[in-house]
Amino acid sequence: MYRAESLKAEEFISDEEIRQTLAYADENKDNEKLVDEILKKAEKRKGLDHREASVLLACEIPEKIEKMYALAKQIKQDYYGNRIVLFAPLYLSNYCVNGCVYCPYHAKNKHIARKKLTQEEIRKEVIALQDMGHKRLAIEAGEDPVNNPIEYILECIQTIYSIKHKNGAIRRVNVNIAATTVENYRKLKEAGIGTYILFQETYNKESYEKLHPTGPKHDYAYHTEAMDRAMEGGIDDVGLGVLFGLEMYRYEFAGLLMHAEHLEAVHGVGPHTISVPRVKRADDINPDDFDNGISDDIFAKICALIRISVPYTGMIISTRESQSVREKVLPLGVSQISGGSRTSVGGYAEPEPEEENSAQFDVSDQRSLDEVVNWLMKLGYIPSFCTACYREGRTGDRFMTLCKNMQILNCCHPNALMTLKEYLEDYASEETKEIGMKLIERELEKIPNPKVKQTASEHIHDIAGGKRDFRF
Ligand code: SF4
Ligand code: SF4
Repeated sequence: MYRAESLKAEEFISDEEIRQTLAYADENKDNEKLVDEILKKAEKRKGLDHREASVLLACEIPEKIEKMYALAKQIKQDYYGNRIVLFAPLYLSNYCVNGCVYCPYHAKNKHIARKKLTQEEIRKEVIALQDMGHKRLAIEAGEDPVNNPIEYILECIQTIYSIKHKNGAIRRVNVNIAATTVENYRKLKEAGIGTYILFQETYNKESYEKLHPTGPKHDYAYHTEAMDRAMEGGIDDVGLGVLFGLEMYRYEFAGLLMHAEHLEAVHGVGPHTISVPRVKRADDINPDDFDNGISDDIFAKICALIRISVPYTGMIISTRESQSVREKVLPLGVSQISGGSRTSVGGYAEPEPEEENSAQFDVSDQRSLDEVVNWLMKLGYIPSFCTACYREGRTGDRFMTLCKNMQILNCCHPNALMTLKEYLEDYASEETKEIGMKLIERELEKIPNPKVKQTASEHIHDIAGGKRDFRF
């Protein structure tokens, strides 16, 4: 039985409900009247439920698809403006006891280089990341109670926050580790993490069990109910995601939205972010082995429909995607991207020797952070290194209230400009700096509130004089 408010995975992600949803979407994909009604509802910026959004995903009428894209662009513009927040992943350890068939870190892979960063190595990595200009990290580790116990993760977080190199600082550490207990989530909360990220991989239980044949991750319910335990442990910013390519994308899309509806129904706050990774080539992984791969067009449509369906949820694209795909989906609602990423364990301080490949997947976008910042600005975006909400305690429902009232516009825009200014002063190449300074001047004029504009201008002036870390 389907119940969004249930705490049982098989009830809030009901297979029967997803199948009925897909059948309903198939029946109505050419029903122009219904498609128009759904689009009208979406225009009110209140989001769509999984059934409505699934009808739009199934609809192939070109002129309606155009409307979906136009609306996604408009919503992105209204809530996120032209800002794109930047982050980098930091892989701490690739020891893993699980058997995920799409990931080269699976326990049976005996030839991949296994590594676990020491605290000293983390220090070096973080200094290298700070020297690139990063302020926001997502730490990643395989599941291994012996090599990567929670104490190790907590120690790493403490080390990362403690490093202040020159003007650098990591101001927000998001955490992507295996599903764990309420008690461990509480410890992560106390360690001051930003978002807890856990990808579902696939919502289809049968496929899930086949794709995770061994290890603790095999337990579908334990994995799917992880976000409820995280929230019970006090973490109120959680990040969802599926790995597109493993299962039928329409199934995953419906499941993803049902998961978001479940979090809203039970905890009063939806997911903070949604990530949309696709299966990529890696050490012993060939993406062609998975027959549910999606085209760039479908990928773009999914991004647009996520933006329409959950307008207040950030959307993340990683360097798994190429520059051209990123360019295509940025205007459709993406709010965060990674830049200058390494997907090996370490690799920021010193590039990994080729014979020691420890990467989780091949990076498609290999550009440096400076190149990414430069590229974003040339496309008309403001690269932002903002971490203000989390540091001001605007998390969970407090963040959502702000966002839903569109108050976020009074914070995000000046914060983006101030953090960009820090980046330009401390890390940018001459060319990037020149483009950025002009952009800041132009964008300052767009701040509607004269008081905020005045304060932001003063802070930007002070940043040039050496001061750091202003925020609204
Ligand atoms: S996806 Fe995660 S849990 Fe699975 S093998 Fe890779 S690192 Fe381990
Ligand atoms: S002000 Fe908050 S929502 Fe806006 S960019 Fe900064 S952290 Fe994100």
